[in-house]
Amino acid sequence: MNDPDTVPPRPRLGVSRCLLGERVRYDGGHRRDDWLTQVLLPHVELVALCPEAEAGLGTPREPMQLERGPGDTQRLRGRESGQDHAPALRAWVDGRLPELEGPAGPDGYVLKARSPSCGRAVPVNGQREPGPGLFAAALETADPSRLLVDETALHDAAAREAFVIRLFALARLRERLATEWTAGDLSAFHAREKMLLLAHGRPDYDRLGRLVAAAGTRPRAELAAEYAEVFARALARGTTRGAHVNVLQHLLGHFREHLPADERAALQTAIEDFGAGRRDRMSVVRRLRERADALQLDWVCRQSYLRPAPDELLTGEDPANE
Ligand code: SF4
Repeated sequence: MNDPDTVPPRPRLGVSRCLLGERVRYDGGHRRDDWLTQVLLPHVELVALCPEAEAGLGTPREPMQLERGPGDTQRLRGRESGQDHAPALRAWVDGRLPELEGPAGPDGYVLKARSPSCGRAVPVNGQREPGPGLFAAALETADPSRLLVDETALHDAAAREAFVIRLFALARLRERLATEWTAGDLSAFHAREKMLLLAHGRPDYDRLGRLVAAAGTRPRAELAAEYAEVFARALARGTTRGAHVNVLQHLLGHFREHLPADERAALQTAIEDFGAGRRDRMSVVRRLRERADALQLDWVCRQSYLRPAPDELLTGEDPANE
């Protein structure tokens, strides 16, 4: 087991098999995604899934479409036979979900867009009323804060970076909680994630702090479950350029006694350039990190905000959605 304070985590990632290049689509083809397979996969523990093939629908199989039936039930109607395949899919989901929800389950998912099983926004009843495919819906219902995107979201550099940062943060927490952690371990974890959490909003950071303070007075499993729930929800909130500027300014404040005024001013200018949209955030993060490492500013160096994921996965694009 990795020590999450010293070794980068290895996230578990659930991925639609057709995105991996497996020929499991209804037409016997695949939709291999190059960034996913060539860049991200070497850094994760893969959980490959194909609801339709694993539900026994066969490959190739007839194309299907989602339909809303009586009482808001969903049907997965075969376009050729008219047969409803939803019962087979639901039986597979019911059998697979407990394991996916368990301690060995994925930290996040990348599922195939527009699939009536895996897609997140799929036409229902033809072109009207888009809704999630049956498997995606089951995952989202079980955990609304779940990290779940379709591959088209990862074609945008900023969204991809946000996804990667969130995935690795969730993996760090999972690995921390999988150990025989002490109240001190949880407190150290929380301190290390401070700047990342603050970039997503103060209230959840404060609430998590109260949970950390209660460690030792509450049952461990109960506390861990609540911490994990609030942590996941905090990261799901997204962030803004202004929130990142505040975090970067806070970090720069830790250099006050250690850097000459002209070097601090240069870093301040870099932060302002980021705030004004003239440079990307990761370039500022890397400059702060290099200076903190050189000066051995321990608290700053340990902030996950400065090392949120392997550098090769971070594009330098700002994940904030201004
Ligand atoms: S979209 Fe999902 S169900 Fe369809 S082939 Fe890909 S993995 Fe299988």
